[in-house]
Amino acid sequence: MNPFQFNNPTKILFGRGQVEEIKNEIPTYGRRVLLLYGGGSIKKNGLYDQVIKALSEITDVYVEELSGVEPNPRLTTVNKGINLIKENNLNFILAVGGGSVIDCAKAISAGVYYDGDVWDIVTNKVTAKKAVPIGTVLTISATGSEANSGSVITNWEEKDKRFFVSDHTFPKFSVLDPENTFSVPKNQTVYGMVDIMSHVFEQYFHASSNAPLQERVGESILQTTMEVAPNLINDLHNYDYREVIMLNGTFALNGILSMGVHTDWATHTIEHAVSAVHDIPHGGGLAILFPVWMEFVASKNPEKVAQLGVRVFGIEAENKKNSDVAVETIRKLREFWSSLGAPEKLSDYGIDGTEIDLMVERTMITETIGSYVPLNKKDVETILRKSL
Ligand code: NAP
Ligand code: FE
Repeated sequence: MNPFQFNNPTKILFGRGQVEEIKNEIPTYGRRVLLLYGGGSIKKNGLYDQVIKALSEITDVYVEELSGVEPNPRLTTVNKGINLIKENNLNFILAVGGGSVIDCAKAISAGVYYDGDVWDIVTNKVTAKKAVPIGTVLTISATGSEANSGSVITNWEEKDKRFFVSDHTFPKFSVLDPENTFSVPKNQTVYGMVDIMSHVFEQYFHASSNAPLQERVGESILQTTMEVAPNLINDLHNYDYREVIMLNGTFALNGILSMGVHTDWATHTIEHAVSAVHDIPHGGGLAILFPVWMEFVASKNPEKVAQLGVRVFGIEAENKKNSDVAVETIRKLREFWSSLGAPEKLSDYGIDGTEIDLMVERTMITETIGSYVPLNKKDVETILRKSL
């Protein structure tokens, strides 16, 4: 393992009815609140009313709202939030939504204390020195953003989607009530589970060799997700299924799997470029790209793919070459995601090869990407072409 430091300060409030607790948590940090949410799902399912009630029970509270945070949140919305905070002297952000709303909150929180363009922070040109405290009420299990410091923001004018992390942008607390995910439609539920599994893959396929605990924990997250997923998609209001997936989502990207390992993240980097240019759902893009990425790396280094196949997909490996086990593993992964209804090709989203050069360019933010098998520009183009 590489030397590492671990500090995840986010307090998790898990279970039914926990949203009420925000009235006790928020005043520790501030009483002038920016309430941030997305396109309206929280108004339809009643969560908005619960949040407003809990906020109203805070003495001397002042609330400004910013709604309409887009899936794949836009830089323009981040700037709106920064201006609202500055104009109204707000000192706390409550993000009620999924990864998009939470990521938007993080970029707003860091941007408030930076005099230049917040895009400089998102693109890692400058480091955030300070941030407005954030709390979250999670409404969809997917990104793990509720318990990490990462934020992914889209600059739609530039057709670019980038991410940053900062010690200052961990949520102070996150409310995880599985009931708040009952109304997530089937397709978004599937995208979320694909994202959770992909987060494990990104950290499972690493260049370091001695991380057996991290790998076993990752395998458990994959197995648990795969056990529950087929049941959940046929029973979207089932509390037990929703709570397992919710905890899996948090575990998959709260830092424990990446302890001491040089993680990969090539597929996420490619997906960000695809959704920057074509605005597709993150999990949908990953469902298409991950099996193709796995085929590519297995042709160079099949060992870990074969390990995944044996330990998670139950493949019998005796007297078989790693490369053959890897092929079987990828077939099983594809079959599993397809059985849930995940997309299989970029053409499922109407994407053809027209903008492939731009997608490659947006992917190559460094000379090579990934660590398990570093990919150059040509490799990325190959993966994108095979995904069409
Ligand atoms: P999302 O983009 O936050 O939400 C997707 C859709 O689901 C929205 O249309 C949203 O509608 C709807 N939705 C959310 N909760 C709902 C509910 N309870 N009931 C009904 N509909 C609901 O989804 P996400 O997958 O969580 O976030 C994706 C973003 O996070 C991408 O930009 C991705 O790149 C990024 N990401 C971040 C990290 C990280 O660590 N920070 C990791 C991976 C990906 P409303 O807008 O109406 O609420
Ligand atoms: Fe993701």
